[in-house]
Amino acid sequence: MEKAEQADAKLIPQAVVYRVEADNKGLINAVHYKDPNGNSTRVTDKLFVLAANGIETPKLMLMSTSDKFLHGLGNSSDQVGRNLMDHPGTGVSFLANEPLWLGRGPMEMTSIVNFRDGAFRSDYAAKKLHFSNGVPTMSVTADLLKKGVTGAELDRQIRDRASRTMIINSFHEHLAEPQNRIVPSADHNKDSLGIPQPEIYYSINDYVKKSTANTHELYGQIAALFGGTEIAFDDTFAQNNPIMGTTIMGSDPANSVVDADCRTHDHSNLFLASSAVMPTAASVNCTLTIAALSLKLADKLKREI
Ligand SMILES: Cc1cc2nc3c(=O)[nH]c(=O)nc-3n(C[C@H](O)[C@H](O)[C@H](O)COP(=O)(O)OP(=O)(O)OC[C@H]3O[C@@H](n4cnc5c(N)ncnc54)[C@H](O)[C@@H]3O)c2cc1C
Repeated sequence: MEKAEQADAKLIPQAVVYRVEADNKGLINAVHYKDPNGNSTRVTDKLFVLAANGIETPKLMLMSTSDKFLHGLGNSSDQVGRNLMDHPGTGVSFLANEPLWLGRGPMEMTSIVNFRDGAFRSDYAAKKLHFSNGVPTMSVTADLLKKGVTGAELDRQIRDRASRTMIINSFHEHLAEPQNRIVPSADHNKDSLGIPQPEIYYSINDYVKKSTANTHELYGQIAALFGGTEIAFDDTFAQNNPIMGTTIMGSDPANSVVDADCRTHDHSNLFLASSAVMPTAASVNCTLTIAALSLKLADKLKREI
């Protein structure tokens, strides 16, 4: 932000954009934002980039309807807000038969990415298995206190169990399905500025569920390799948080929202910098990819200007 401001960018904090305005030819003229008191301001320019993540970006586009764009901006393909994807995850924890001290803090230790591809993908989803680097001391201690362990024995068991706790979670590939989508709430659920909140429709299909059954088996095999005891599976789906697909990238304007430069097919001066442009989820985080796409977009904008 500091670098941007040194290069003459103007940062307006707490400005919530609620409308993007297009002329009848499809060029974007302005964005409208509200300050925390609800006062509205219109900002004009020549090029516009929406970068409000995978929920708010499509919501904003769908809210920006007009006589010319009845179904919102960038939406001639009817794909804005659709194909919502995450990496649904399951997990397992167990005690290994020797001290491993996995809870080493922020550094990622390792993941098993062997299951990112293979013939099995015609049957069930790809995935990444991820060894948690979280420090388990708090949860280990809470469990021991619940069991009534105290004093020197508590110290000994905290050290022993924290050193042997292994937690593995998973990132499953989610397919792009049009019915998984976000829409602006039509007539209720407005936020404190009176802006519609998103309604989210999201379900996990059998392709993923079949893969999680296989993941459960793999967890069991890994636990056995480590002489695991107290094996606890968690097969309820957890989110992994990269929000993808809601403004899908593609070469055909009939079935996608942005092109390879993150430029909307429908509006030549409107660009999207977001994980929302990911057309497939794969089985690993997409943030470095969207950072790369954003740098590419920045170069593009420099040339356009
Ligand atoms: C708990 C969690 C853990 C994660 N862990 C990882 C990880 O380990 N590895 C990884 O690769 N990725 C991870 N991710 C995903 C990663 O954070 C996202 O992919 C990334 O932040 C997306 O970047 P973005 O710029 O598109 O959106 P964001 O970083 O969300 O930025 C969007 C910005 O737009 C602003 N905004 C929204 N609506 C409006 C509006 N109407 N007007 C004005 N401004 C608006 C928001 O305030 C925000 O500042 C994680 C995400 C979460 C939530």
